[in-house]
Amino acid sequence: SGPATAELVASRVLDVPDFPQPGVVFKDLMPLFGDGEVFRQVIDGIIAYHGRDSFDVVAGIEARGFVLAAAIAYATGVGVVPVRKAGKLPRAAYAASYALEYGEATLEVHQDAFTAGHRVLVVDDVLATGGTAEATLGLVEQAGGTVAGFSVLLELAFLGGRDRLAPRPVHALLTV
Ligand code: AMP
Repeated sequence: SGPATAELVASRVLDVPDFPQPGVVFKDLMPLFGDGEVFRQVIDGIIAYHGRDSFDVVAGIEARGFVLAAAIAYATGVGVVPVRKAGKLPRAAYAASYALEYGEATLEVHQDAFTAGHRVLVVDDVLATGGTAEATLGLVEQAGGTVAGFSVLLELAFLGGRDRLAPRPVHALLTV
């Protein structure tokens, strides 16, 4: 990572005002996912930041985190675990609920998703308030994993997610 990947992320994000609701500026990273060279560089940047021997498995947060996690897993030869929205997983799962601006959301992970003690790299596209990440990191630990790191492509610093997750470190390719 570093200035080069930050610049790449900045060049491939579109601001979409008032989506999914009025007042929210949605950070659309589809241009980044859609550019093969840029996608490869950001995936390689995340792996290089943590070190390819620093994790045993990658967890992706539904849905854009799945794309990142799968690419990191394939590139490093580890497995991938989906952290899913409520009601999607077919077997016994742990669940964590957290507050959204309106209402609440629930994420789930299979109870047997992680080998005990395995080091888990968690990835998502955007860090906003940190509620999603906080719930996910808790689920990883509840399911027996050890959080090895947490990476996002884009951090919205004004929403305070990094502080909410402290003292856990957050790796963002770009912070705005
Ligand atoms: P939060 O729990 O507030 O940190 O929200 C993070 C989750 O919601 C991530 O899975 C993001 O994909 C999504 N998200 C939240 N806010 C935005 C935004 N402004 N633009 C794009 N995605 C967002």
